[in-house]
Amino acid sequence: MLIGLKKDVVIVGAGISGVHAAIAAGRAGLDVLLVEREGSVGGISTLGLCNPFMRFWLDSGSLVGGIFEEILKDLARRGGLLANSFDSEIMKIIYFEKLKSAGVSLVLHSIPIGVESCDRQIQSVRFFSSQGSAFEVEARYFVDATGDATLSYMAGAEVFQGDENGANQAMTLMFTVSGIDYARVREDIRSNRENFFAWVNPDFEILSVAGYFEEIERARKGGYDRLHNYFFFIELPGSGRATVNTTHSFDKSAVDPFELSEAVTDCMAQTDQLMTFAREYVRGFEKAEIEKIATLMGVRESRRSRGLYVFSGEDVKAHRKFPDGVVRATYGIDVHNRSTQQVSEEERKAIPLYDDYYEIPLRSLISADLDNLAIIGRCFSSDFSGQSAARVMPTVAGMGQAIGQVLHRAISRGENLSEIAIDGR
Ligand SMILES: Cc1cc2nc3c(=O)[nH]c(=O)nc-3n(C[C@H](O)[C@H](O)[C@H](O)COP(=O)(O)OP(=O)(O)OC[C@H]3O[C@@H](n4cnc5c(N)ncnc54)[C@H](O)[C@@H]3O)c2cc1C
Repeated sequence: MLIGLKKDVVIVGAGISGVHAAIAAGRAGLDVLLVEREGSVGGISTLGLCNPFMRFWLDSGSLVGGIFEEILKDLARRGGLLANSFDSEIMKIIYFEKLKSAGVSLVLHSIPIGVESCDRQIQSVRFFSSQGSAFEVEARYFVDATGDATLSYMAGAEVFQGDENGANQAMTLMFTVSGIDYARVREDIRSNRENFFAWVNPDFEILSVAGYFEEIERARKGGYDRLHNYFFFIELPGSGRATVNTTHSFDKSAVDPFELSEAVTDCMAQTDQLMTFAREYVRGFEKAEIEKIATLMGVRESRRSRGLYVFSGEDVKAHRKFPDGVVRATYGIDVHNRSTQQVSEEERKAIPLYDDYYEIPLRSLISADLDNLAIIGRCFSSDFSGQSAARVMPTVAGMGQAIGQVLHRAISRGENLSEIAIDGR
């Protein structure tokens, strides 16, 4: 039997952007349904073991407030925050708590299987659950927070993919490690500065470490054939823990299930070899063990949906502000592909500068093809390099909370999202 529902808003995808949108819209009094294909919420921010929150502050203060700031405080209160790195499991608990108290209806293990639209409006979406049942939801507004622009794609909206050659960013399967002796790691960095990227600072509150160029060279000669050009890990709250951001699968599409599965298989084998390498070669990792391997592949970029404005790498470089700017961010262009993995001398010595911010305009969060569809998170309307900067967690959290508030305005005025975005109110 097909269950029929009516809601104010349906959000597909419960990653950090979808969760923020749902909480903001729920708190504003809207009847919200949040639909997620996995068995938990948070997407790459929890199931993908991604850390830390990339730079979201300037010397003048934080660029992202509201729900995101509340979550930081909750994480700290529960011992789940170390500077800007967080515990993924405590994060899940907080997301669930906040969704519930905002009155959001959450459905897990379900995916959209059909979209009904007419006159530039989505009328309803039919979902299928992994338990074999289906439900159809009519709503005034829909939000694509799938990361892969899946709802936009299914609704027939225009989507883009990859760089000028259609090549996507590399995918990474993250894993966490316990049993690290950080005193030894710090000592090693202090005595071998040239063996690390110049931005690695052993005196920071959390260690974010990338390098070990010399060990990798030796290990390769010793038969390690799956290593990339550097080893990269980030300290986590707790004792002797880190998340490792070093596996890479290149030239595969995350929206092709066969290629995605090959990428996961490849990264799993890389994980195994990396841990053996780390125990043998990396000072401080002698007794380290794998704690968890991400259950969700780290997809940096796949499909992006076309909005009323296409946010670009030029906007990032120019620190552009917009009359309809709704999110402020400072993180720069960051592409992971075969060529950026080569690591030139110049890249080893570069230290990123954070002295100004850019804005994400509301128009880039509203579909150009469907007037009641918002597009948030890493599939928002952007070119390849613009997306590579704006995809980070604090920025996409900001997109979610901005859209939640815009939905409330739209519903109270009975307007389409495109009308609100264009007149910039
Ligand atoms: C390897 C890696 C490292 C990164 N490192 C950092 C970092 O250090 N700091 C930082 O700030 N950012 C980092 N990022 C970026 C950041 O983590 C992500 O871009 C961000 O978390 C994306 O959030 P999102 O909500 O847009 O998408 P996602 O987290 O991808 O969430 C999308 C959600 O939608 C669900 N979904 C997808 N399709 C469907 C469907 N058809 N039906 C129902 N549900 C669906 C997914 O299961 C998921 O829960 C990293 C990303 C990667 C991949």
